[in-house]
Amino acid sequence: MRMSKMLMPTLKEVPADAEITSHQLMLRAGMIKKMSSGVYNQLPMGIRVFKKIENIIREELEKKGCQEILCSGLIPAELWKESGRWEVMGAEMFRLKDRNERDYCLGPTHEEVFTDIIRQEITSYKQLPLNLYQIQIKYRDERRPRFGVMRTKTFTMKDAYSFDVDEAGLDKSYQDMYDAYTNIFARCKLDNSPVQADSGAIGGSTSAEFMVKSEVGEDEVVFCSGCDYAANIEKAQSVNHEIVKEEMKELKEVHTPGVSTINALEEFFKIESGKFAKTLIYEADGKTVAVVVRGDREVNETKVANAIGEVIEFELAREEVVKAVTGAEVGFAGPIGIKADYLFIDQEIAEKNNLVVGANKTEYHIENANYGRDFEGVVGDFRNVAQGDKCTKCGSSLEIARGVEVGHIFKLGTKYSETMNANYIDKDGKSKPIVMGCYGIGVERTAAAVIEQHYDENGIMWPLSIAPYQVVVVPVNIKKEEHKEAAEKIYAQLQEMGVEVLLDDRDERAGVKFKDSDLIGIPMRITVGKDIVDGNVEFKLRDCQDKEVISLEEVKSRVE
Ligand code: ATP
Ligand code: MG
Ligand code: MG
Ligand code: MG
Repeated sequence: MRMSKMLMPTLKEVPADAEITSHQLMLRAGMIKKMSSGVYNQLPMGIRVFKKIENIIREELEKKGCQEILCSGLIPAELWKESGRWEVMGAEMFRLKDRNERDYCLGPTHEEVFTDIIRQEITSYKQLPLNLYQIQIKYRDERRPRFGVMRTKTFTMKDAYSFDVDEAGLDKSYQDMYDAYTNIFARCKLDNSPVQADSGAIGGSTSAEFMVKSEVGEDEVVFCSGCDYAANIEKAQSVNHEIVKEEMKELKEVHTPGVSTINALEEFFKIESGKFAKTLIYEADGKTVAVVVRGDREVNETKVANAIGEVIEFELAREEVVKAVTGAEVGFAGPIGIKADYLFIDQEIAEKNNLVVGANKTEYHIENANYGRDFEGVVGDFRNVAQGDKCTKCGSSLEIARGVEVGHIFKLGTKYSETMNANYIDKDGKSKPIVMGCYGIGVERTAAAVIEQHYDENGIMWPLSIAPYQVVVVPVNIKKEEHKEAAEKIYAQLQEMGVEVLLDDRDERAGVKFKDSDLIGIPMRITVGKDIVDGNVEFKLRDCQDKEVISLEEVKSRVE
């Protein structure tokens, strides 16, 4: 490509509204252009990188036998109503109507759509397993779009869905995707850690998030300094919960009549009972000693946000909601707060009376429970995992770091196949629900995360695998015939070799051209200048200070 013909609006200055490096550099390199909050357009330098990432994803998934399809981004509400998520998705889902007043949404994710396709096509175990994926634009009305393409309202996601006959099949599909993700991120030169992410919200399913450690990350991740244990903060909290369970062996986990925050909340927000949340009550000697409420963070967050308004912080929302529902002095609530998936009543809270406690079952909740009268034997608050806490696996100290979630894999089990009747006939002639998994990668967010790990004061340093172009040929002075001619020749030769090459044929000073090629992060630069009289050019790698004078004949072998 000739740079004189390109749309590449590079910027010298750091844009004022871009807080983090990748956002600044994407804007400065002319990769993206903001249209409105959380909505970006992609320019040539950007789209080439995103397409490279997409193609790496394609190659690695197809190696595992996945097949690409493309679903509509416009989805009829009926499918979401069937799965129960039309009510649950809340404000993050863009909803719209057609001219006949029929409801639709712009797909924030596609479990329903894939399940619908599969239930129409699959009848027999002989047609399984199957793994389908798409690379497509998702729409999410994010509460706080930020950091450029890290969190936007429209973004490209690769989402894959696996369909198996049983759990063992799902285990394999999940492992295949885990391996594919490892390969994908390795090829993008993205240093990342898969971390355990199942907070137990949806039937205790297994899930892993692929996290890139970064100061700018919006997630908290717990790493062990002594072993390979790694989990997101919610999961880490649930591990603590496991230890407590272990330590309280004499305690029985029961679902007894009691009082349920969740139930009351569900009623309040019309969430279908029992689907998304679970309350565990621990009993010793027939007495309730602890109550733990677990639930789906997103579901509850969104619901609460809808009911209470967009602005409140969740810690506050939690209290407001409980008050609204129960009229009780707030003692504790469950999974509404970002940090409150697991909660043991602590002494201080317990001694405030009028608590809401109970099991997540219809009619199985009592409001205004009183410590001492209705339960006792408080066990303490285990919500927090702190820096330096001991690892449950090896006893070494835990570190808490910030992370960017670039990918997420999830064992769904039969959650969707059961609600949407996606069944197959097994060998034994019986109809069984298809066992599913889902797997996502954010394309633009991955690119941004790569920049966070590959840049210097001059700009982006793309890994060769996802660079928009591999080589830039820079004639020092385009007005000098010998520079121009040699540069054109090299450009043509490299193109013929199939190298993705830029020719900086702009009538600019060499310094300007060097600055731009550094900023946009092209891995190799060939400069045609005064040495051309001897048949030589200068060769420089973006990530290396050294410049080498090489002969024209050598160019080919260097670039190959
Ligand atoms: P987050 O926790 O950051 O909101 P998520 O858990 O909601 O992400 P998933 O539903 O797991 O996201 O989607 C799969 C992938 O899509 C994420 O791992 C991430 O890479 C990407 N992604 C999700 N939301 C956004 C967004 N608003 N902008 C850009 N990429 C996103
Ligand atoms: Mg999200
Ligand atoms: Mg997430
Ligand atoms: Mg996720």
